[in-house]
Amino acid sequence: MKIVDRLVSQLFRLNLQNRLVVGFLIATFITGFVATVVSIWTINKSTIDEVQNRVRQDINTAKLIYNQTLEKITSQIIFTAEGLDLHVTIASRDYVKMENLRSLIRYEQEAKPQNDTISLDMITVVDALGNVLYRAANPDIKGDSMLWLPIVKNCLEKKSLQLSTELMSIKNILRENPNLAERVKMEIIKIPLSYEPGEKQLSDGMVMMAAYPLYDKKKNLLGAMVGGVLLNKDNTIVDRVKETIYQGEKYKGRDMGVATIFQGGVRISTNVMTKENKRAIGTTLSKEVYNRVILEGKDWVGRAFVVDDWYITTYTPIYDMNKNLIGILYVGLLEAKYRDIKWHAIWTNLGITGLGMVIAFIISFYLGNTIIKRIRMLKEAAEAIAAGNLDYKLSPDKISGFDMLDEAFNYMSKSLKDHDAKLHKAHQQLARTERLTALGEMAAGVAHEINNPLGGILLYSNLVLEDVPENSPARENMQKIIYQTNRCKGIVQNLLDFARTPTGDMLPLKINNVINTSLNLVKDQSMFHGIEVKADFAKDLPEVIGDRARLEEVFLNLFINATDAMKGKGTLTITTRLSGNNSVKITVSDTGEGIAKEHLPHIFEPFFTTKEPGKGTGLGLSIVYGIIRKHNGFIDAESEPEKGTTFIVSLPLYMGKFDGMDEDVFYS
Ligand code: ADP
Repeated sequence: MKIVDRLVSQLFRLNLQNRLVVGFLIATFITGFVATVVSIWTINKSTIDEVQNRVRQDINTAKLIYNQTLEKITSQIIFTAEGLDLHVTIASRDYVKMENLRSLIRYEQEAKPQNDTISLDMITVVDALGNVLYRAANPDIKGDSMLWLPIVKNCLEKKSLQLSTELMSIKNILRENPNLAERVKMEIIKIPLSYEPGEKQLSDGMVMMAAYPLYDKKKNLLGAMVGGVLLNKDNTIVDRVKETIYQGEKYKGRDMGVATIFQGGVRISTNVMTKENKRAIGTTLSKEVYNRVILEGKDWVGRAFVVDDWYITTYTPIYDMNKNLIGILYVGLLEAKYRDIKWHAIWTNLGITGLGMVIAFIISFYLGNTIIKRIRMLKEAAEAIAAGNLDYKLSPDKISGFDMLDEAFNYMSKSLKDHDAKLHKAHQQLARTERLTALGEMAAGVAHEINNPLGGILLYSNLVLEDVPENSPARENMQKIIYQTNRCKGIVQNLLDFARTPTGDMLPLKINNVINTSLNLVKDQSMFHGIEVKADFAKDLPEVIGDRARLEEVFLNLFINATDAMKGKGTLTITTRLSGNNSVKITVSDTGEGIAKEHLPHIFEPFFTTKEPGKGTGLGLSIVYGIIRKHNGFIDAESEPEKGTTFIVSLPLYMGKFDGMDEDVFYS
């Protein structure tokens, strides 16, 4: 566990790209490994299952062939006994006739049975007591009892046909047929478990035999005919099994299927080959198979090491007449072919996993690279924003899948920019308010100080005028002094208006009506003749609270300024709207000359004018500003030179009562 923990913590210490690469590799390796293990397991299971099923069927076919051989021997004996009228021959003790039986004996080991007849290794005729009357392969020896042979004993006792595979001692076999000496002589190549260590020779032979009872006409038992085939070194059965089941199928020059007959644990008839390419006669069973089949008497189905290679095998026991286990019948399929299929699958799987890992490495490396590249770009962008470049934009990259991040970043920088602009504007407005407040204070102070002396000048000028004779030239000068002083007083009054902006009664009123009144005052005047007026008033607007006369003055001022700017030609657009739920927004737009950018921050200042001397005082907008502020409202202007100007006024709604005019609101 500690190692795993250490590996994991080290993995997380790697940089992003390496982490991605290692992560991808681990993932593909694990997937590949699991896939390989699973497919090996599946292939193993399915092929082994299939092959085992096959050999299970094969052993049944082998058994059938084995039993068929036994039945053939039997029918051969019956056919011969009946064909030669053996009962007559026995009854008459006609031994010359019995000599005909010799033609059925196989002297030469290699001799093949002719036609469909089977060559027998031994034929013996016994009388009803079991004494030998005639031995076809050894006619000189007779008169001895054959009752020791269970098949003879059973045949005579039960008076019925008997057939089985029996073990016979070599001595007895040779008595039946001395020519079999070569076939029973067999060296055991490995000492099997069933034999005493050191014993090199089999003491018995395995004989497939049948005994047929013979009767006289009165159904009295006369004796029996016994015949058999020695299985040792007789490969007829195993070769027929191989031919029938495997049809000579080969894999890499070796027989795919093999069959064997065991006597005890020793191969006595087989087509399993040794390394020297000889039939593996005399070789022995493996220990596991021996334990299961010979000792436990059960079938064996599975892998087994046979002579020098692995086979998928089935072993089934062979019993004699008295149900003693005397041998084994075996079929096996060479495992090499299936092993090769398995290894082929394993290597293919490993190859695919390896290829997958290479591809994963390339992909993860590429992916890591793109991610890191994008992260770097984001970092640069963030740094640019931090340095104040709010216009910095990332071009959304749809291919790398980072467009979401890019868009989010661009959105962030845009809203940062918007906020910055709003802040800037608020800052400007604050600065303007502060500036206007200072100017207001100063103007009020100056106006106040000048107002009294001006009053004095006027009073005394009038007094002097009264004393000046009607025809005196000084009279005209005096009148000029009084005129100019009055002008001064007017300006001072305007200044005071700007600063204090006295208001009359504050009443709820309909702003559309107020605007219409102002409009009616000007629209018939000559300077309005070339101007189109568009009024777009919201219906059912709630009332605002205000001093009607002062508000009329505001709009009058705005209209006159607009007409001035349009120089007698253009469109004046007036709109009213509910803004939010506590104020009304009024816009007054013209299509006039507009206001230069550098002038815009100053238009509300007293005495700021761009008009020729004598034409404008620069007090109009500052008075408008003062009035709107006294109404707790707000005014602003937007303009594009040569295109036009829009004044935006917002006034609070009447909420049932007016909180009272704050006298200091201008200065606040
Ligand atoms: P005045 O009209 O006596 O110049 P104001 O305070 O009314 O004084 O206006 C100040 C200045 O603002 C004007 O001289 C003009 O330059 C500018 N101005 C005001 N209204 C407009 C408008 N509608 N279009 C263009 N400029 C305007």
